[in-house]
Amino acid sequence: MSKRIRFAQPQCFGISLLLLFLSLSPGLFPEDMAAAATVAAAVPSPDPVPAAAAPVLQAFTLEDTLKILDAELRWDPLFRAGILSSGDHSLAFQTGAAGVRNPVVLDNRDVLTLSAPYLEGGALRFPGEFVSAARSALDEYLKQDRSRFRIAAIIVDPGHGGKDNGASGTHTVKGKTFTLLEKDVNLRVSRDLHALLRTAYPDKQVLLTRSDDTRTTLEDRAVFANSVPLKDNEAIIYISIHSNASLTKSARGYEVWYLSPETRRTLVTESKYTDSPEVIPILNDMMEEEFTTESITMAQLIMKQFKENLGSLMPSRGIKAEDWYVVKNARMPSVLVELGFVTNEADALLMTDDTYLRKFSQALYKGITEFVDMFEHTGGFTSH
Ligand SMILES: [Zn+2]
Repeated sequence: MSKRIRFAQPQCFGISLLLLFLSLSPGLFPEDMAAAATVAAAVPSPDPVPAAAAPVLQAFTLEDTLKILDAELRWDPLFRAGILSSGDHSLAFQTGAAGVRNPVVLDNRDVLTLSAPYLEGGALRFPGEFVSAARSALDEYLKQDRSRFRIAAIIVDPGHGGKDNGASGTHTVKGKTFTLLEKDVNLRVSRDLHALLRTAYPDKQVLLTRSDDTRTTLEDRAVFANSVPLKDNEAIIYISIHSNASLTKSARGYEVWYLSPETRRTLVTESKYTDSPEVIPILNDMMEEEFTTESITMAQLIMKQFKENLGSLMPSRGIKAEDWYVVKNARMPSVLVELGFVTNEADALLMTDDTYLRKFSQALYKGITEFVDMFEHTGGFTSH
């Protein structure tokens, strides 16, 4: 089996030569040539001692090779060389005499030394070793493509529950008094978001930390998040849904949080960054993970959707923690959203309105799917 060699770009054998092929015209091979015998006759050696080079016992026609590799050929008649391309992957080769071994460049970076394709009666022949090694290399690339940067799980975490009401606000509007509990608002939006994500991603684990009015401790939530099984190159994201409260009745609006390890000290010693003291342990818990730029990106995408979908009815209080963020590797990008203030009458009225709450879940859904698309297609995770 040929050993795959990787080398630095400046020394790349034949790269510039091979790239030159791209600009030259293809189609040298008439169909009758391509349709010549599938397997070239074995060449019997008069010498009983095996030759140093691999004997060319079997070779494939161009047509069969293209079928086996699911590839197209760009051929350069001048250099008698070609590039086989299959999907996003390429395999550049130079022909030689039958039995000669030449370097083959894969994806402009990996090199295999294989029995070279050769010309026979004007038609290309691909040695069996060449075709099987090329097929294996392409399979390996495809396997890597499938496994890279996949978000395998999304955890939606409705804050509080059961006897833990979270924040609460009592208001009297037009003679009617009502009390809004944070745990209820969080659950309503989370369940809706969960349903939207499940429909969009049947192949991902979309999980709720609680699906009804039950108490779930912070430890339970952390254990739950950490227990989701992941394969190599799979990632998990965490979205915690909360509603805000303040002694200042006029405080209102939504916020999106992400946190860095740098914030830990600040959070523990100062509460000015949040009006809900109960949120501090959650934020600290989330910081146990290594937060990264992905958390910022997710926060930004969600905030953008909040602004676009919620209109002018509720103000934005912005993304929090951005100023002190230090980029680190991530295992679990996480954000925490505060939907609005249950202690503010205008916010509380909006948060009792299912139509308005639906806007929140849809905005979250759009922000999250945008995040997933971005990172699954560009391979954005900085580390694993
Ligand atoms: Zn809360």
